[in-house]
Amino acid sequence: MACPSPWKDIEDKFFECSICLDLFKEPKLLPCLHRFCKPCLEPILEGQVGTFKCPLCKDVCKIPNNRIDGFKTDFHMKSMLQFIQLQKTFENEEVRVCVGCSKKLKVTAYCFKCKDFLCVQCYQFHSTNKMVADHRENVLALKDVEGKSLTLEKLASLKEALRCHVHTEFQAQLCCCTCGNLPVCVTCTYGKHKGHDLQDVANVSKEERERLQKRLEELVKLKENVTSLTDKINKVNAELTSIVADTKKNGKCSTKIRPGS
Ligand SMILES: [Zn+2]
Ligand SMILES: [Zn+2]
Ligand SMILES: [Zn+2]
Ligand SMILES: [Zn+2]
Ligand SMILES: [Zn+2]
Ligand SMILES: [Zn+2]
Repeated sequence: MACPSPWKDIEDKFFECSICLDLFKEPKLLPCLHRFCKPCLEPILEGQVGTFKCPLCKDVCKIPNNRIDGFKTDFHMKSMLQFIQLQKTFENEEVRVCVGCSKKLKVTAYCFKCKDFLCVQCYQFHSTNKMVADHRENVLALKDVEGKSLTLEKLASLKEALRCHVHTEFQAQLCCCTCGNLPVCVTCTYGKHKGHDLQDVANVSKEERERLQKRLEELVKLKENVTSLTDKINKVNAELTSIVADTKKNGKCSTKIRPGS
């Protein structure tokens, strides 16, 4: 059996949109920190001017630039979802066309440079052959998925650098916060995104990563608390049962209930 992966013990709900009850598609982050799929949010925003109420907490949220893309896409949530999907593909031993040998085989790895799956043999070739040496850092294999060592940091490093959304031949060093976190290159700062709130892409993604990592840790802690609470309740229950049994036997209460134990 596969070992638990870092996020497997996190409730599925964390990755679920509360409108369509499915895994997030293009998750948009609202100021109240609730997330919804872009396609789910679109009909709700229709006809709303300037503000709208969050479907979950009913908070009045400002619609940045009065359009859905004014809301940030949660890129880290997106990459975690991609990871979960890959994990499912590996664990279900799904048969896909391998990008290396073009055969339909069980896939055990994914190359973020090739943007495709690899079979066991082609994965080995991918990790040893000099021709694709620059792909080595961008491969996610079944064994990585099974380990506990995979962090958001590592996951982010697997992916290729972001490209400018206008000039796809250039790397995006900047991120336009005015346009909902669009990746932009330096040239764009003189053009389409002149005067916009531009931030270093590395900084923005690091901040988001830290925020999400904290949320994940909170969830794990919450789960631990619930488990220990259940343990306590079970203990108290067992004590009560034995007291009741004692009382029945002796006709009086022989065991003192110790509060707080
Ligand atoms: Zn949805
Ligand atoms: Zn909300
Ligand atoms: Zn292959
Ligand atoms: Zn590759
Ligand atoms: Zn550009
Ligand atoms: Zn912009």
